[in-house]
Amino acid sequence: MSELSNLDQYIRNIPDFPIPGIQFKDITPLLAHGPAFNEVITTFTQRYADQKIDAIVGIESRGFIFSAPVAINLGLGLVPIRKPGKLPHHTLSVEYELEYGSNRLEIHRDAIRPGARVVLIDDLLATGGTVGAACHLLEQLGAEIVETAFVIELAFLDGRTRLGNRPVYSLLRY
Ligand code: AMP
Repeated sequence: MSELSNLDQYIRNIPDFPIPGIQFKDITPLLAHGPAFNEVITTFTQRYADQKIDAIVGIESRGFIFSAPVAINLGLGLVPIRKPGKLPHHTLSVEYELEYGSNRLEIHRDAIRPGARVVLIDDLLATGGTVGAACHLLEQLGAEIVETAFVIELAFLDGRTRLGNRPVYSLLRY
């Protein structure tokens, strides 16, 4: 289940949160355990160290927790993709469908230079709707998505298929 040493023990399953029928993967025990948190950040850092990456991109909000330390370790900048109305400068925005209703993500138009090689990091890949929308924003700005990286992948929801040929890397698969 995990490529790492028993990382799974730091993920807490919360049934019926935030709505009935959803089993929520709670990452707070992992964040609270220094060595486990460090192992996640070190694994991502080593994976991208020699890949000539230009920027790390994080998705609000749990994605920020993992993307920021990786960016610092690699000596790279962090580009935030945020929920609507949070970014103050000129933004590009994309709407995407959820099971019920829709959502929006935004990026600053000047955040990426065309041709930039980026890695996109979020905590969890479920249906792939969120990261798919984030990829769409990055590609509109001319970024090359080297990989999308997650701590957890809910493989039974097949988010990979939704991401097409964009590479996906995850540490824990359920
Ligand atoms: P999706 O767009 O369906 O891939 O959903 C991904 C986003 O929703 C991620 O940013 C996750 O933080 C959150 N998410 C979706 N399902 C779960 C789950 N079962 N447990 C924890 N977070 C989830």
